Amino acid sequence: MIDLSITEALQKLKSREISATELARAHIERIEKYNPELNAYITVTAERALADAAAADERIKNGDMRTLDGIPIAMKDLFATRGIRTTAASHMLENFVPEYESTVSQKFIDAGTVLLGKSNLDEFAMGTFSKTSYFGAPVNPWQMEKRLTAGGSSGGSTSAVASGLAMGATGTDTGGSIRFPASITGLVGMKPTYGLCSRWGCVAFASSLDTPGPIARTVDDAAALLSAMAGHDAKDSTSADVHLNLDSPLQPILGDGKKLRVGVIKEFNNVKISDDMQKLFNARVADLKSAGAEIVEVSIPNILDALAAYYIIAPAEASSNLARYDGVRYGLRVEGSDIYDTYKKTRAAGFGDEVKRRMIIGTAVLSSESYDVYFMQAARVRRMIANAFNRAFEQCDLIVCPSGAGTAMPLDSDMTPLEYYALDLFTVAMNLAGVPAVSVPCGMASNNLPLGMQVVGKMFDDVRVLELAKHIEQFANIDNRPTKIMGK
Ligand code: GLN
Repeated sequence: MIDLSITEALQKLKSREISATELARAHIERIEKYNPELNAYITVTAERALADAAAADERIKNGDMRTLDGIPIAMKDLFATRGIRTTAASHMLENFVPEYESTVSQKFIDAGTVLLGKSNLDEFAMGTFSKTSYFGAPVNPWQMEKRLTAGGSSGGSTSAVASGLAMGATGTDTGGSIRFPASITGLVGMKPTYGLCSRWGCVAFASSLDTPGPIARTVDDAAALLSAMAGHDAKDSTSADVHLNLDSPLQPILGDGKKLRVGVIKEFNNVKISDDMQKLFNARVADLKSAGAEIVEVSIPNILDALAAYYIIAPAEASSNLARYDGVRYGLRVEGSDIYDTYKKTRAAGFGDEVKRRMIIGTAVLSSESYDVYFMQAARVRRMIANAFNRAFEQCDLIVCPSGAGTAMPLDSDMTPLEYYALDLFTVAMNLAGVPAVSVPCGMASNNLPLGMQVVGKMFDDVRVLELAKHIEQFANIDNRPTKIMGK
């Protein structure tokens, strides 16, 4: 049962070949067996899962099955869940139990999903390996004995979905936190168009970049999850009032003489990536060409400056967003001699090093001496990149590029902040521009670990992005069944 895709499970649930309760039980057992080693979940909600499953079984029996009825999922522990602690993987919110439900998690409830638990992540979603989690890093189920990273910041979600501790999961992508972890765990992870999925009730990191999105084992599953998550929300001022047709099955976008122009970004040609990544990327581009796509080279002149712009804008917004954790309104409080001393002691104890680093950088670039030279300059680069994407999409319909430079690295590899920031080179530009991008497996590297590549589209072209990703998924044809990756 663990290896079923969401679409397969929905059919079996509908025909009542399996029940939601059986499905939930199989996942809970597997969580009990593997979560101690994988650390994919911060909080497991087994009782809630069984109650959700019983309700789903009842609906299915009565013939009013919902779109994702009975599907067991993991919720990134950044989405507020009423009555269930929501930690953002931080000491600051270690014991925070929200009294409200985030819009995204509410939509999953409405769709009938079964909540297995809250998945691990980097503290406040800041990081690349989920190593900044106050609860310890999740582990990649591929070649588990090697203790490789499942990526970050949505690394608990990718660890859970790849290992069969959930059928699908939510993530958030501010600078690649869905796409990078998906790419090194053999999964499909999508950053939808900014504004397509509501941020309401999602712990804020950098509000103009934060994008909730799905993580799944197949492109069809990712589309099914996205369909449940997307939609206008009056509670989020940047939510887009756009309805995409995500309910009907994805259609082939290539073949039968269909015309499609697929762009390859010229500036990425000179970026050093592993030989395997280069080989697999070239092979998939060649496949697209044989299937009838016209491959065109496009230019996003400032794309290599995206990293610098991102690491100014994201910390700037973070420093402002995280000012709310003062020991008074939410979470941890360490009593001081007066109110200022309480602020100081609470924040000193409540935040980890990476989060503090971001707040210091963010505060510096927003100071009056630095604002024009750093923050405004970064905002200009951001606008130039968004404009360049618009121009590129006059020459092509969709763009493809690598998701990262190579396969998953060991959790104990030592890297400086600048070294791991550099790993976001292929993902941050899409957040700055707001455009939709999905990472889809493009094949297996010579060390038998999966690699991913991205499909990028213009604003609100999320459906076509998924449609092209589905072709790439078929060409790559990797085996990412959980019991194949890590055994029964
Ligand atoms: N690695 C990026 C960062 O540390 C990604 C974060 C994210 O997308 N949440 O900022």
